[in-house]
Amino acid sequence: MIGGDPMHADILRHPHFTCQRCGSDNVLEVDSSEGFPQSFVWDCLRCCNPHEVTVRLDGDDLSVQAEPV
Ligand SMILES: [Zn+2]
Repeated sequence: MIGGDPMHADILRHPHFTCQRCGSDNVLEVDSSEGFPQSFVWDCLRCCNPHEVTVRLDGDDLSVQAEPV
């Protein structure tokens, strides 16, 4: 069991996107203390196809744009 740390939980956010190759839901982990937007390459957990992912802050929510590389 992971100890409760509200500060930590507040900084780490878990937006998700649907893989454009296999349709699998991928949950990301981003550090919101680094600011937005953030771009990085993410390999689908299921089919391993890389996506160029951009995470933006949209109000209180995060929006994720993912393009197959
Ligand atoms: Zn996939």
